[in-house]
Amino acid sequence: MIRFEDILDKVESYKPDFDEELLQKAYIFSAREHRGQVRSSGEPYLVHPLNVAYILSEMRLDETSIAVGLLHDVLEDTLTTKETLQRMFGEDVAELVDGVTKISKYNFVSREEQQAETFRKMLLAMVSDLRVVLVKLADRLHNMRTLQYLPEERRVAVAKETMEIYAPIANRLGMGRVKHELEDLSFRHLHPREYDELSKAVSEKLAVSGDVVDRIKETLDSKLSDNEIAGDVYGRVKSMHSIWSKLRRQEIDIGQLYDYLAFRIITTSVKDCYACLGIIHQMWRPVPGRIKDYIAMPKPNFYQSLHTTVVAEKGQPFEVQIRTREMDLIAEQGIAAHWKYKEGRVGAHPDDKSFLWLRQLVEWQQEIKDPRVFLNSLKIDLYPDEVYTFTPKGDVFAFPRGATPLDFAYRIHTDVGHRCVGARVNGKLMALRTPLRNGDIVEILTGATQTPSREWLSMVATSRAAHKIRHWLNGEQKNRSIELGRKLVEREAKRYRVQWRKLVAENALDGVLSEYGLAKLDDLYADVGYGKVSPRNLVERFAADNDKEKPHEPPGPIQQAVRRIFPFGSSATIKVKGYDDLMTYLAKCCNPLPGEAIVGYITRGKGVAVHSANCPNIKNLMFNPDREIEVEWADQRQSPQYQVELEVVMDDRQGILARVISAISNLKTNIRQMESRSSEGKATTDLVLEIADLKHLERVTRTIGSLDGVLQVERKYNISRHAIA
Ligand code: MN
Repeated sequence: MIRFEDILDKVESYKPDFDEELLQKAYIFSAREHRGQVRSSGEPYLVHPLNVAYILSEMRLDETSIAVGLLHDVLEDTLTTKETLQRMFGEDVAELVDGVTKISKYNFVSREEQQAETFRKMLLAMVSDLRVVLVKLADRLHNMRTLQYLPEERRVAVAKETMEIYAPIANRLGMGRVKHELEDLSFRHLHPREYDELSKAVSEKLAVSGDVVDRIKETLDSKLSDNEIAGDVYGRVKSMHSIWSKLRRQEIDIGQLYDYLAFRIITTSVKDCYACLGIIHQMWRPVPGRIKDYIAMPKPNFYQSLHTTVVAEKGQPFEVQIRTREMDLIAEQGIAAHWKYKEGRVGAHPDDKSFLWLRQLVEWQQEIKDPRVFLNSLKIDLYPDEVYTFTPKGDVFAFPRGATPLDFAYRIHTDVGHRCVGARVNGKLMALRTPLRNGDIVEILTGATQTPSREWLSMVATSRAAHKIRHWLNGEQKNRSIELGRKLVEREAKRYRVQWRKLVAENALDGVLSEYGLAKLDDLYADVGYGKVSPRNLVERFAADNDKEKPHEPPGPIQQAVRRIFPFGSSATIKVKGYDDLMTYLAKCCNPLPGEAIVGYITRGKGVAVHSANCPNIKNLMFNPDREIEVEWADQRQSPQYQVELEVVMDDRQGILARVISAISNLKTNIRQMESRSSEGKATTDLVLEIADLKHLERVTRTIGSLDGVLQVERKYNISRHAIA
């Protein structure tokens, strides 16, 4: 329960010479005007303005803002007029209260129009006097904290509006603390079941891992003092909403939740921030791709911090944010922290960089009449994690950042996705994996014979597209297995002189089907194709005794069949006598190169995998010789690029990596990925290169290996149990 004295104490703590009389007057006036009114919670109405004023004092705002917090509902909910406010509290307070009151009033039909209008008013208010919006945010924050007292329908509507308008605005103004609380509260009311499940899951994890937060915090603390760095370490569980969005984004279910702890180190200098990062990476292994330097590159809302995610001993990952005290204040309070109280109006001063975006927005919005268009252009700025793109007709599609034309194609229609061969982005042809940017106009090109491939899964950012691709691949995988199975059986039948087609026509296989517990012949073929049923055993039972002993030759066992591979990218086709168009693909574990010795392996359901003959997966025990198939390279009519991973070990000294990279690029070779680590005076770099053939690879490895300081160059294979079957 907030008392008026608490507010006075708070304001005094940061502004000792504040105008106490103004606040006294506002408090008494508000109490009198709201007398007899009660909130849905049953509490006296005055509790609400008191809380709003307190939140504003936590933002360390001036006494005018605090007074407005106390008075913000008197125009709307009591008989007070603007003139009265003017007379009693002056022009500023009256205008501000009026501004706050106006924001929530709409006369619009559609939700979209309402939203657009709320945004419009908030923007205009921000430009004329930022304090209107800060009071409005404090008002909304307290309403959200007490939302449980409203009927469900109202609750959902308010939570939705908060999630879509108020949280993004708080974020855009850099007010991290307010934003997180608004999001968490909205999440709780919009998805109560998910919220409960998630909080339960997190507390269970915490119970199991015991005092993990304390342990990590202690380790960080002692490491900082070992290195004589002054810094405070804070540990916490991430906000429910941010955990939840992440789970959804990555399609992880709660059972696999692991990334829920976050630590913050507050240092005294930027130099120490980077030093901390180094110390942390020495202790724990960083998760690739999760190191973010927002100090060198601040977010548009001026947020600055270093982020990294590392994995502790027991496989527990956690995020660490490192920043200075000043950066932390900006991160938590945003614009409210670095905005100076000036006499009179507080708004977009032309010199204030933090308002540049705002002024631009206001300029745009004056030109835009259609609320839909306005909303969409606004969202570009308010939702930095989303990308807004257009069809040539002007329809807007929003995607998570990183989405590609392929996501776009699947958004239009599943079939457009499946048949997508390319895209014209802003009139220019673009590769399917090019990330889309805000404002891109995307036209999808389709081809009649195009079909999805497994590789596409790595090119999409939306779960919708991934789901559709996976669905297609699964169906396709079954079809291929049926095809492969049928061919294997028919071939085997020839050897044993079994008239297979006749058997099929006479339903002579029904007994076999029921024996295997299968419904139809295709299921049997699929099982053969998947490697579950041996075609020989199957056919043999229908063969005459003498044929059983001496199977007919040729065509000989499948092991001796020679297949030609036409390497078109990563999926290739086989052409061989007896087996037209068996599906083949290049194994991901070793990515064999044209020219090197290869072997084929009949997989369970994916066709024939082609491995390098040196691939450790092929050599080791899980390899089943019955499923081996001989393959060879076809003439190359084009030279596609293959991804090859090299591990380069070198002396850990300056400039050496730069020499390696320039040697590679001198060989006109593209580097797809690069990752380095170092220990004990040696640096190891993993490179993923685009290689045309074995000769090309040899040239590259020879050149790198001959560089001064390079100790070893080795091709890497991904050894895994899944690579083969
Ligand atoms: Mn209110």
